[in-house]
Amino acid sequence: MERTLVEILAAKRDGLTLTEGEIRRLVSSFTGGTLADYQMAAFLMAVFFRGLDDVETVALTEAMLHSGSVLELPDVRGIKVDKHSTGGVGDKVSICLAPLVAACGVPVPMVSGRGLGHTGGTLDKLEAIPGFKTDMSTADFARIVGEIGTCMIGQTKDIAPADKRIYALRDVTATVESIPLIVASILSKKLAEGIDGLVLDVKVGRGAFMKDEQRARDLADKLVRVGTRAGKKVVAVLTRMDAPLGRTIGNANETREAFEVLLGRGPADLVECTLVLGAEMLVLGGKAKDATEATATLRAAIASGAAVRVMEKMVEAQGGDPKVVADPSRLEIASEVVPVKAPRGGFVADIDALALGLTGVAMGAGRTRADQKVDPAVGIEIDAKPGDAVQAGQVVARIFVRKESAAASLVDRVAGAFTYADTAPKPLSLVIDRLSL
Ligand code: URA
Repeated sequence: MERTLVEILAAKRDGLTLTEGEIRRLVSSFTGGTLADYQMAAFLMAVFFRGLDDVETVALTEAMLHSGSVLELPDVRGIKVDKHSTGGVGDKVSICLAPLVAACGVPVPMVSGRGLGHTGGTLDKLEAIPGFKTDMSTADFARIVGEIGTCMIGQTKDIAPADKRIYALRDVTATVESIPLIVASILSKKLAEGIDGLVLDVKVGRGAFMKDEQRARDLADKLVRVGTRAGKKVVAVLTRMDAPLGRTIGNANETREAFEVLLGRGPADLVECTLVLGAEMLVLGGKAKDATEATATLRAAIASGAAVRVMEKMVEAQGGDPKVVADPSRLEIASEVVPVKAPRGGFVADIDALALGLTGVAMGAGRTRADQKVDPAVGIEIDAKPGDAVQAGQVVARIFVRKESAAASLVDRVAGAFTYADTAPKPLSLVIDRLSL
């Protein structure tokens, strides 16, 4: 006998395993209006305590995925691969990665998000480019990916609408932290892009969604297992997010820094992160046999200018000014620059990514509510990174604001994010681990 919806909730409450059909029925009843919000909330809490095994998580992912439409890219030849980051401070990797990987022959259809809380969002950064549009029809998206190799848009209301409603309930029922729910949420949206492969950058540390390495590992592991079971090629890379990635925080200046990577002069940690993830994408996309060959291919695409040309074409196709790539002075960056100085000599021991991310939000570079607007022009630039030797009074960071008076309360906050030591800190590798099946 088929379980009723209430019996399904009771079964999960009691720690039983649900069938794929039961999970599908639960989600379709919720989207169809016959399962109330409070019943879905009860299910989410039951999952929080009882978990979902991999088969159940695939079923939940697919039910959420099919609550909307899956993009079709019939004219895009090749193995389509995307990257998803769980988010960090200064993480502008997507902006340089997608055109770079596309320049190496792997199509990258990318649906990105906006910033919320202390981490920024790719769409907000891209919209700092004059004229750049991130909302377009799926037909235009498919055409641009086919013609140029990549296109970066925002989530349409057709992409996994069940996730949006379920996420809103998770947010107010203290169930956001459940790993199977996070996995289904991330994968349902990514699989809607019609991709064949996915590289996940699971960030770990103070400035990340996952602060604890074991939790991040558990998340990465489950993302790989569930994504693979759902028929995709999936790799996860665990990367460190204690200090900001690169030297910039804020929308226009992060976009400028992403261009710098393609122009061959990006900061070392940002370049490394881009190359590590890009190499995984090239291998999944069948364009390189291993990471060594893939990294050489990526470097060659930067050196030849091929990656910059794809970036310029993408910007133009999405309504932006392509000259901005080679000439970032065309981006609007706030003109008042307020320095932050080292209070002592020695070495920069650490920079607190979370503190700088929250300062970015306070300046207007990020938002605390989904309906807020961001100011593309404001931000922070870091002049001294962990390990750099500094003298007392040396500028370690600059704050870009529209009015100098706006920086008064920010200087102490930025200064407080830096710690110093007499000796250089032990360098920590950016990549903590790589997981695949
Ligand atoms: N990102 C998502 O898209 N969903 C989650 O549940 C958590 C992070």
